[in-house]
Amino acid sequence: MIIILKENQPKQKVEEFIKGFESQGFTVHRSQGVHTLLLGLVGDTTKLNIETIQANDLVAEVKRIQEPYKNANRKFHPEDTVIDIAGHKIGKGHFIMISGPCSVESEEQITLVAEKVKASGASMLRGGAFKPRTSPYSFQGLRAQGLEMLQAARGKTHMPIVTEIMNTSHIPLFEDVDIIQVGARNMQNFELLRELGHLRKPILLKRGLANTLEELLMSAEYIMAGGNENVILCERGIRTFETSTRNTLDISAVPMLKKLSHLPVVVDPSHAAGIAWMVEPLAMAAIAAGADGLMVEVHNDPKHALSDGAQSLTPEQFDMLMQKVKAATAFFGKTLN
Ligand code: PEP
Ligand code: MN
Repeated sequence: MIIILKENQPKQKVEEFIKGFESQGFTVHRSQGVHTLLLGLVGDTTKLNIETIQANDLVAEVKRIQEPYKNANRKFHPEDTVIDIAGHKIGKGHFIMISGPCSVESEEQITLVAEKVKASGASMLRGGAFKPRTSPYSFQGLRAQGLEMLQAARGKTHMPIVTEIMNTSHIPLFEDVDIIQVGARNMQNFELLRELGHLRKPILLKRGLANTLEELLMSAEYIMAGGNENVILCERGIRTFETSTRNTLDISAVPMLKKLSHLPVVVDPSHAAGIAWMVEPLAMAAIAAGADGLMVEVHNDPKHALSDGAQSLTPEQFDMLMQKVKAATAFFGKTLN
């Protein structure tokens, strides 16, 4: 961190200011200009509050050199993280395919979709039981019953299950879920993130609708600071001025996140596009950009889906997508598992 002091400040105050940092364990390098003094702080500055320093009368400007996240930072963990979910690995060349309906609608529906996507080569089953809907009058999910249906489908297909949590009080219900999803709307629900940090279960953390990559990584940091290092990042499209797609898939987020962090990155082309026919080209782009996995919505009868039917693939369309995913992952040297 670099702190630039205002011109001609009282020497004693400056010395006290510097001692304050030294007493916290920082080494302070001074660089004296004609009028201004520049201070270079060496040490772990992640816990320093930049606004507090800025508020000091002596200070003209503060600049962070190091990112404010540590556990998620590749600088402190150069190797890619590999997460093992019931034998399915993600990260460092291991690629996973998560698929299933937006919402769990019945045991028959989720089991049917699970069997179909598994036959096509999907690694894991997704399905929302607690649904974050814009309208309180829309289908809200089958809640605890939906989780039981997912577990029943896992029992029949042996596919690990991925489902979204919305509330800290529901954590006990998610004990038997393989990957807990934090949806875009909860990316900055810091209480929820903190509680998930106390678990050791993998967390699929989706990027918020209008959040920067640094904010996404800070949210990952919340979970990791609690000791849960099993975080998978997910790019699912962001809000832009474009209206022809539901969101805009930020494909550049993939190489950037992989440069900044060692955590695996999954892309969700379904929520990014909002249109079924666009899922395949976006999925191909995600693999080419270096994604470690995809999450794709598949419904047995998209026209009658209780949520997100327009972006859901039929099992037959998913099977065609999987042929291309297999070819693309092999081309880019990834192992689909
Ligand atoms: C979902 O995965 O069904 C979902 C609600 O996604 P997002 O949080 O990205 O909107
Ligand atoms: Mn959905």
